[in-house]
Amino acid sequence: MNDVKSMLPAELEQLLTALGEPKYRAKQLFSWLGRGAGSYAEMSNLPAALREKLAKEAPLCPPEILRKAVSRTDGTVKYLWRLSDGNAVETVVMRYAHGLTVCISSQVGCRMGCAFCASTIGGLVRNLTAGEMLDQVLFARRDLGEEIGNIVVMGIGEPLDNYDNLLRFLTLANHPEGLNIGMRHITVSTCGLTEKLAALAAEDLQITLAISLHAPDDETRSRLMPANRGRGVAAVLAACEEYFARTGRRITFEYAMIDGVNDSVSQAEQLAALAKKARAHINLIPLNHVEEREFSPSAPERMAAFCRVLDRLGANYTVRRSLGGDVDASCGQLRRTYERGGSL
Ligand code: SAH
Repeated sequence: MNDVKSMLPAELEQLLTALGEPKYRAKQLFSWLGRGAGSYAEMSNLPAALREKLAKEAPLCPPEILRKAVSRTDGTVKYLWRLSDGNAVETVVMRYAHGLTVCISSQVGCRMGCAFCASTIGGLVRNLTAGEMLDQVLFARRDLGEEIGNIVVMGIGEPLDNYDNLLRFLTLANHPEGLNIGMRHITVSTCGLTEKLAALAAEDLQITLAISLHAPDDETRSRLMPANRGRGVAAVLAACEEYFARTGRRITFEYAMIDGVNDSVSQAEQLAALAKKARAHINLIPLNHVEEREFSPSAPERMAAFCRVLDRLGANYTVRRSLGGDVDASCGQLRRTYERGGSL
């Protein structure tokens, strides 16, 4: 089947030419797809015969909302979508002073195996197509009737483990005749697949890159994040330095504070040194407790002591506000609850 939602204008042109249509129809189709059309029937400037042909040759299959929940405390909206093959992924929309940020998934499940994360528990099921990534933004926007300001690829999955589709998604989201979201308004978060980071640096995109660091030493990081094994913090740091040198874009280090695991004074000192070397900004995240996982968020006094060290060393950091806590709106927890058969 033709996956029109993942196609760039030139590819749509090829498809329509093959169907015996003039090229300008591709432009019209791309524009409808970029606006989040739910069916060919909506595409009023395409001839009925073409719409029928397309519906047969390239069915649209928009995601269906399986669950939608709105946080009473902060307005965060979470969606659980049913994809055309029956798999489920989640998307979270957060409200900030500067507008809406949508957090999308990049895979169904994940194979990175991070010890604190809910998304990886059932392993990787499959990659999402570029169109399925884009659909999460388009259909959240359509459902809410509000414009989206920023996209973060921080939902389920490891985006750099789905590299080609990720790049295609970025091109589509950024396209002036499509969704037209500036690269500077897109953040991609990765557990640090160094070989892919080098490729991404070479693309020289203006996106924000977030590295899930979570520990400054190999012993702790490899325990928490199997993807660190065989790579190591030093290699991740070198990849970050190269990325910054190439793109001039400041990297963010994400650091989930886990009680008694990665929140010691010495780890704070090591983290500050790494961030200084990579010229990275540190984002401290209070760990979200995941039912199946043994870890707890850092106690407030340990968090405070950690921050004092970062302050003393002049590190550049913020503590992330946790949104949507009353609606399980983080880190694959919604999909987990769904697959366990729980009520949402
Ligand atoms: N695979 C990518 C993106 C998805 S996860 C990555 O690793 O960056 C988005 C962020 O949430 C990552 O920093 C991830 O480590 C973090 N995360 C996962 N589970 C968490 C939990 N229980 N509490 C806090 N942060 C968590």
